[in-house]
Formats: sequence, structure tokens, C-alpha cells
Amino acid sequence: MKEGVEILNTHANETKDRLKGLLKPCPFCGGKADIDHHIDSFHDIQYHIKCTGCGLSFNNSWGTYQTSDIQKEVVRWNTRANP
Ligand SMILES: [Zn+2]
Repeated sequence: MKEGVEILNTHANETKDRLKGLLKPCPFCGGKADIDHHIDSFHDIQYHIKCTGCGLSFNNSWGTYQTSDIQKEVVRWNTRANP
């Protein structure tokens, strides 16, 4: 399944590139926000928004986010950034 995973990684990187530019800076330290992703054993892409400065994130572990939620999480991050 290596090829399948590569396709998923390419897809995830495109999604991240598209959404990263929309992220506001961290609400606590003003650092740059970034998105990580991880392919789980079911070949679902899971995303994780975090601050590259202080490490703030709104979820504690992989598995909270599914692909379809990442846009909502970007909105949620930005809402937190600008209360
Ligand atoms: Zn921060």
C-alpha cells in the first residue's frame, strides 16, 4: 500500500499548503501556526493545527481530526486567534 500512502501524503500536503496561508498567528504567543498531518492505519488523513512558537494546539493527540474537518478547524483556530 506504499503507493496509496504516497497519494494520500501528496493530497494532504496540497491541502495543507492551501489552508496554511489562511491561518492566523497563535493567540498566545503570536507565533506562526502550522498544520501537521498523519496517515492512520485505516488510511485516513488526520490533521493537526499547532503553533510553531509555543506548541499550542487544540487537540491532544492524533485522531481527533478527520480530513473533512480541517477547514472547520482552521476556522476554529482563527476564531480563537481573534476572540
Ligand atoms: Zn504560540
